[in-house]
Amino acid sequence: MSFMSRILELESFDFDGHFQEVTSADVENSLRKDELREQDLFNLLSKTAQDYLEPMARKAQKLTRQHFGNIISLYAPLYISDYCSNACVYCGFNCGVQFPRTKLTIEEIEREAAAIAATGMRHILILTGEAPAQTPISYLEEAVTVMKKYFSSIALEIFPMDEEEYRVLCKAGADSLTVYQETYDREVYKEMHPRGRKADYEYRLLTPERGARAGFRALNIGALFGLGEPRKEACLAALHAHYLEQEFPDVEISLSLPRMTKAKGIIEPKNILSDIDFVQFMLAWRLFMPRLGITISTRESAEFRDRLVHLGATRFSSGSKTGVGEYSLKNHHDATVQFEVTDDRSVDEVADMIRQSGYQPVFKDWELV
Ligand code: SF4
Repeated sequence: MSFMSRILELESFDFDGHFQEVTSADVENSLRKDELREQDLFNLLSKTAQDYLEPMARKAQKLTRQHFGNIISLYAPLYISDYCSNACVYCGFNCGVQFPRTKLTIEEIEREAAAIAATGMRHILILTGEAPAQTPISYLEEAVTVMKKYFSSIALEIFPMDEEEYRVLCKAGADSLTVYQETYDREVYKEMHPRGRKADYEYRLLTPERGARAGFRALNIGALFGLGEPRKEACLAALHAHYLEQEFPDVEISLSLPRMTKAKGIIEPKNILSDIDFVQFMLAWRLFMPRLGITISTRESAEFRDRLVHLGATRFSSGSKTGVGEYSLKNHHDATVQFEVTDDRSVDEVADMIRQSGYQPVFKDWELV
């Protein structure tokens, strides 16, 4: 049984109605438990639970310290190609947006890698659009091989692949896979992904499972908040993470809460996720899954990220550039970006903030041997 069966089971479920029925007593009851079940997740994600953010935060902080210690891991994203054959209506790299597309050569990737590594960063996330003709597996394999010279952990946020293809990239040295479902609502998914390979909801949904079987040691998943109804998305993302944790106990599972931000040629978000909902979702996830990694990107503002350090976050991107070639290549200074970075502090500044908050910034906590 895959997570697709669970999605189909939940398709007729009235999420809204269910959230509305949650009472204060339900929330208090869930907060008292040591081990939470699905119903508790619902309770803690309901509007009613917003009156309990303080006790939720205290418990989340304690659980995070207990399972992760006093650390926040850092990573940097590196966009190596903005070619894309998909038409996701919320993305600046959408094939319908006209701009000169770029793909880095292997030499350019090495220059970018060196520039990022010079900041002290040892965990990298490689990103591409979905254009297998421009960025075939052989190119990605070479990119990973070059990255191994500079980084101890290489994560991929590329287009979904078959298990065998992932095996090739794991063998080259990639250890972690990020793939967002974007929206778990199949109707909204269809609207947002009108054509291209990404129109296949099920193939995307089952990507983390293929990745785990291929040998990735860590998976990062989530929804892009702004597309579907946020409470339902938060619930399904957590159920997906929980399913993966149960099925693949040796794999590190993380969730992210990317919120749609501005980029050239994209739609406005339909369902804005407020800061308070963002915090509540993070806390509910932490209480439901104490060992869950929670990743926070530079889409969020510096002030907001500073507060999230204490609320269950375990991983921050920093010093991020979201256009191809932006770290070191002078001729790419006008790069079109996938989304706008809001926290534009340097790696050193983010690391200082983490230290001042009483946590330790970690640049390296993994090495493939
Ligand atoms: S979200 Fe990814 S697949 Fe969709 S248009 Fe953007 S780069 Fe392409």
